[in-house]
Amino acid sequence: MTEVSQPGAVSRALRMAQTLATEVVEQVAIENGVCLHSIPMRVTDTHSSSAEIVNLPCGSTQESKCPPCARRAKALRAVQCREGWHMEAEPVRAPAEATEEQRRLVMVRAQWEAWRAEAAELGESTDAIGLAIADLDAEIERSGLGGDVLGRAVPVKRTRSTRRRQDAPDLPRRQRSSSTVGRTYAAPDGRAYRPSMFVTLTLPSYGRVRNGVPIDPGTYDYRRAARDAIHFSKLVDRFVQNLRRVAGFDVQYFASVEPQRRLAVHLHMAVRGTVSRADLRAVVAATYHQVWWPPCDEVRYPAGCLPVWVAGDGEDGEGGYVDPSTGEVLPSWDEALARLDADDEATPLHVARFGDQMDMQGVLAGTPDADQRIRYLAKYLTKSLGGGIGAEDHARAAHAARLVEALRYEPCSAACANWLRFGVQPKGAKAGMVPGRCRGKAHKPEHLGYGGRRVLVSRKWSNKSLGEHRQDRRAWVLEVLGLAGEDGGVREVGRYIWRPVPVGDVSLPTRRVRLLREVARAQAWRAHLAELQARAREVDLPPELGEDQMIMASAGCGSAKIV
Ligand SMILES: [Zn+2]
Ligand SMILES: [Zn+2]
Repeated sequence: MTEVSQPGAVSRALRMAQTLATEVVEQVAIENGVCLHSIPMRVTDTHSSSAEIVNLPCGSTQESKCPPCARRAKALRAVQCREGWHMEAEPVRAPAEATEEQRRLVMVRAQWEAWRAEAAELGESTDAIGLAIADLDAEIERSGLGGDVLGRAVPVKRTRSTRRRQDAPDLPRRQRSSSTVGRTYAAPDGRAYRPSMFVTLTLPSYGRVRNGVPIDPGTYDYRRAARDAIHFSKLVDRFVQNLRRVAGFDVQYFASVEPQRRLAVHLHMAVRGTVSRADLRAVVAATYHQVWWPPCDEVRYPAGCLPVWVAGDGEDGEGGYVDPSTGEVLPSWDEALARLDADDEATPLHVARFGDQMDMQGVLAGTPDADQRIRYLAKYLTKSLGGGIGAEDHARAAHAARLVEALRYEPCSAACANWLRFGVQPKGAKAGMVPGRCRGKAHKPEHLGYGGRRVLVSRKWSNKSLGEHRQDRRAWVLEVLGLAGEDGGVREVGRYIWRPVPVGDVSLPTRRVRLLREVARAQAWRAHLAELQARAREVDLPPELGEDQMIMASAGCGSAKIV
């Protein structure tokens, strides 16, 4: 009997062929900068009643999820970094422009909210829509719009007693100007220089390492490593505050958080303007962040005898966690903090500091060195922090596993389920919380304990939100292609109705077909751009089309139609 005569074998062979075909199509899509997981949307023109399907790029920043979107996100970050680093004039925010962008975002947001309600009503999953909304909210926040667009109450920040305030570090305090652009120096030949800095900050040693692996895992301080990673972004905030105090101007920065070989996070920072090396050293040495959290070094409730949730019966109807044997209600998060405040003997749970290994380079605008640093800052943003350990690298994989184990029961935030293990109700406690199963980013292997943003940008860096940079690039592409037109190639606001195409809609081509169509479109646009590039000397075009611009260009073709 041959294999082919078996029905099972035939379908298996067919399945394999199908899988192979999909892989090839995906590869072609990647090569052409086409999003792999675009969201099909039906766009109806209310004037003509005609409709078409537009594929919205997924917008992922991670190469493991969507390489083309991740590359575009990286290129956009490089643009943002470049535009802010050596600014010569004070950024001035034009309120009218901001309002335009914000209004657009809020309108899109409102539409998504309506879809979510509709999907919920139909009993469909709202997960994907929820994710899109979360992204939009982040974008709205970055655009500088305060509060919550839906008018939900913004939680009031608890004010700590003054005794627990962070002590001011021992640093010289300079007269502070509101300038954000560093000093200018005149060279003997009369030319002006406005130097900037590239700074690298690392965390302290937790034990000796060789090739990224502790020499003695038994004495390597995994707990300290875990807590430093969890509170790293706060430490960076403190550093910036102190730096501004010493520098005497409103220092602006673009920073990226990256993994070191030993699996600790560190920070690369492009800083506008300079301070002396001695001052920078003093700031790094004096900077610390105290974590005033309830104690969590002793396990009060190990697995097997965890606190029990009791539904509320009082007027407020809120439940709470109680001791499984005595029935005593555990202190709430606020109560635990109040106790800490009242205790004169209390010490912070953790004090985070930087290590001795600090690096600072002076950088001049427009030099190849500056370009190289910018590429470096964006280089690894599309990779997860904890990724990149080869399967054959057993020692480092074991090191990573020990760090993840140390992070497992470490509280990552006030709302972390792990607080139950230490006898405190997490902030906003609800039924079903289990220590060791918190879904916070910090506990996941790919984040190495760091749950914050990978790119940290100060408010007055480039004077533009990421959304505005994106709009700029899009406008540039449309301009080059001669598509700008009177409405700038952007759909008229309010004229079109956007709806996600439901799964199983018969009018929706298969994913493979949609990918191939987008590839054809990307190729046509690229060919057109290349042609314009070839004629660049005849027509008045922006400078040469570098890789970044080509990437942005292919983004433009996917999104030129998007409001
Ligand atoms: Zn994508
Ligand atoms: Zn957690």
